[in-house]
Amino acid sequence: MRVLLVEDDALLGDGIRAGLKLADYAVDWVRDGEAARLALSSHDYDACVLDLGLPKKDGLAVLATLRGGGSKLPVLILTARDTQADKIAGLDAGADDYLTKPFDLGELQARMRALMRRSAGAAAPTIEHDGVVLEPASKRVTLNGQPVTLSAREYALLLDLMSHKNQLRTRSQLEESLYAWGEEKESNTVEVYIHHLRKKLGTHFIRTVRGFGYVLEDSAA
Ligand code: CA
Repeated sequence: MRVLLVEDDALLGDGIRAGLKLADYAVDWVRDGEAARLALSSHDYDACVLDLGLPKKDGLAVLATLRGGGSKLPVLILTARDTQADKIAGLDAGADDYLTKPFDLGELQARMRALMRRSAGAAAPTIEHDGVVLEPASKRVTLNGQPVTLSAREYALLLDLMSHKNQLRTRSQLEESLYAWGEEKESNTVEVYIHHLRKKLGTHFIRTVRGFGYVLEDSAA
């Protein structure tokens, strides 16, 4: 497991790196936000331990860039900012967990383990595809920054497709996501709502795979 440690305090960084190494993580340590951004864009990590108060680029900005790019990398924030507002801001920006300084190395190691266990889940606060941004926490959908009003069924269908980008979704798989409440199924529901979504989001947004189902594909560019 490879971890990026972002910490500008030399003494603290040295201690955290040693602690993570003891727990058998391979640790890359950078000391400012810009170096963190570069490292995250050029290497594959299994997790990131991120300080908030950093030179060149604030930790929250680093996190925002990471999540904006669609990364689901598990991120644990280390912060001396122990106000409730800072914790909320960090979690809302897409952090998976946080520790307030000073902290115990044993607790950091335990939280890293928990982070790794959960890392299969979606960590990004929003899902983006082709100009459409979907925010599951608020169920808000925008197209090129403009709010899009969707019915509950349209939203459920879109959420399913956006959660499975580049994966073919069969009609029955999509039907299951529409009828999660044990309701009686109407015929052609999926086709009808796909049609509605195309009218609202653009005809090219969802591709039909004839005889199989539908897919949201990243453009070849
Ligand atoms: Ca700092």
